[in-house]
Amino acid sequence: KAKADGKGTFRFFEPEMDEQLKARRALEADLRKALANDEMDVFYQPLVNAEHCRIVGFEALMRWRHPECGMVSPAEFIPIAEDTGLIVPLGEWVLRRACTQATIWPSNILVAVNLSAVQLRSGTLVQTVTEVLESTGLPAVRLELEITESVLMEDDEGTLAALHELRALGVRIAMDDFGTGYSSLSYLRNFPFDRIKIDQSFVRDLATRFDSLAIIQLITGLATSLSMSTTAEGVETEEQFLHLRAAGCTEVQGYYFARPLPAADLVFELPRPDNGKAAA
Ligand code: C2E
Ligand code: MG
Ligand code: MG
Ligand code: MG
Repeated sequence: KAKADGKGTFRFFEPEMDEQLKARRALEADLRKALANDEMDVFYQPLVNAEHCRIVGFEALMRWRHPECGMVSPAEFIPIAEDTGLIVPLGEWVLRRACTQATIWPSNILVAVNLSAVQLRSGTLVQTVTEVLESTGLPAVRLELEITESVLMEDDEGTLAALHELRALGVRIAMDDFGTGYSSLSYLRNFPFDRIKIDQSFVRDLATRFDSLAIIQLITGLATSLSMSTTAEGVETEEQFLHLRAAGCTEVQGYYFARPLPAADLVFELPRPDNGKAAA
C-alpha cells in the first residue's frame, strides 16, 4: 500500500516488513526488561568424554521465557542483544550465574560460557571475568569461554590481547562452531585455543558423507598435534558417536547424551545411553 502525503512524495508501506519490524522492536523492548522481570534462565548441556562416556563439563546456554511468546530461541534474541549492546549485561549475568552454579558441582566438572564478539570488544570483559571468578570463588581452570571464529575475523588487536589476558587468568578458551567461517586454520595459528568445537553441520551428515568424516579426522589430527581438545557438537545418534570417537574426538555433546537442562535437573553421571555397547 503506497500512501501519498499530499506534497508529491510517497511513502511505501510493505505490510509484511512493517509487521516484522514492529515484532522485532517489540522483542527488543521486552528484552530490555527481561533481566529485571526475572525472565532469563541458564540451561546446561553436558560435555561428555568420548572414551569413557564421563561428563567433563557443562555448556551454559541462555534461555528466555517470554511472558506471552513462551521460550524464545537464542538464535532469535542473541542477535538483537548484540545489535543493542544488551548482550553485555546479559552476558555478564550468564557468566555470574553459571560460575555460581558450578561452585556446587563436583570439583572436576568445568563450566563453558559462550561469549559474543561484542563482549570481547566492550573493553570491560577481562575485568568482569576477574571479578566474577573472585566473587564466586570458582577456580579459573574450571571456566571455559567459547568464542566463535567470527570474533577473530576482524583480526583486531584488542580482541586478541583480551584473549591472552583471559588465558593468563587461567581460564580455558574454546573455538566454537569450528569450520563454519572462512579461514579457520589461520585463527588456530593466531591463538592457542584449548579446545576446538567442531560445528554440528559436520556431524549431521557423518553417516552419509565420506568427506565429513575426512574433515573431522583432519581436525582431530591437527588438534592433537597442537595439544587441543576437540568436542563434536550436535551428536544425536549412536552411529554418529561411534564415528566421532573412532575419528579421535576427545569430547562429544548432543541430544544423544542429554539436552540442555535446568540447573536443578543436572546429573553428573550418564545413564549409559548405549547400554554399555559403546563403552568397550
Ligand atoms: P552454540 O554455542 O554452538 O550451542 C550449541 C547449540 O546446539 C545450542 O543451541 C544447543 O541447544 C544445540 N544443540 C545441542 N545438542 C544438539 C543436538 O544434538 N542437535 C541439535 N540440533 N542441536 C543441539 P541453543 O541453546 O539454541 O543456542 C544457540 C546459539 O546461541 C549457541 O550456539 C550460541 O552461539 C548462542 N548462545 C546461547 N547462549 C548464549 C549465551 O549465553 N551467550 C552468547 N553470547 N551466546 C549464546
Ligand atoms: Mg557454544
Ligand atoms: Mg557451537
Ligand atoms: Mg552454534
